[in-house]
Amino acid sequence: MAFFKKSPWIFHYDGSSCNGCDIEVLACLMPMYDVERFGVINTGNPKHADILLITGVINQQNRGVVRTIYEQMGDPKVVVAVGTCATSGHFFTECYNTLGGVDTTIPVDVYLPGCAVRPEAIIDSVIEALGILEEKHKLSRRAGHV
Ligand code: SF4
Repeated sequence: MAFFKKSPWIFHYDGSSCNGCDIEVLACLMPMYDVERFGVINTGNPKHADILLITGVINQQNRGVVRTIYEQMGDPKVVVAVGTCATSGHFFTECYNTLGGVDTTIPVDVYLPGCAVRPEAIIDSVIEALGILEEKHKLSRRAGHV
């Protein structure tokens, strides 16, 4: 388990999902799964977030929004692609307006396939993201950026 001096904050964005994966993300935030026990807080502002949880495929309409969210987040940051739509485009890959998975537009650190993804797997991916975030913080400190 990663160790942090501050609580990592999550920003959740629904790319263009069917809402199946989003319901599971929300379940993680509710008392039954309670991801806050790991010190994680959900925020509505990407400028406050360390981890981006993103569901759904990238298409012509949301590409710019996803880029903007990513750029608004401070460094270091971690991106988790939640669900097979987000990891690869899934069965929307051949659609006329679909570009593919999240990594067609922004860098992805953690790939979490599944349709829909189970809450336990999402929590595991958040814990993995915390470890990656800590490593990125260490690299930034060594480089004198923090
Ligand atoms: S992976 Fe499945 S459940 Fe998740 S957004 Fe895509 S179609 Fe919906």
